[in-house]
Amino acid sequence: MLDANVCQSFHGMEHNMFFLFGMRSKAKGIAQVESVCTKCNRATMHAVVETKKFFTLFFIPVIPLGGNHFAKCGVCGLMKKCSPELKDQVQSRVMAAKA
Ligand SMILES: [Zn+2]
Repeated sequence: MLDANVCQSFHGMEHNMFFLFGMRSKAKGIAQVESVCTKCNRATMHAVVETKKFFTLFFIPVIPLGGNHFAKCGVCGLMKKCSPELKDQVQSRVMAAKA
């Protein structure tokens, strides 16, 4: 009888196995571009920030979940998601800087 009880408690522990997972995002500034700010109503310099999301397991990024580009107005600080055109512009500029 005692043996059966011990066995059961072991099984219980297995089901409570401890996994630590979560999400992490990284952001880095990649370029400065001139773009029309919707708040300033004129062309201003924008800092373009690239963010990347990862699924993490035990604090290690394991699965990339895609990313986004944001542009921050250098005058008023307004953050907005990059339009596809602006993203292209930034990416070609980053490529050119690497070449
Ligand atoms: Zn602005």
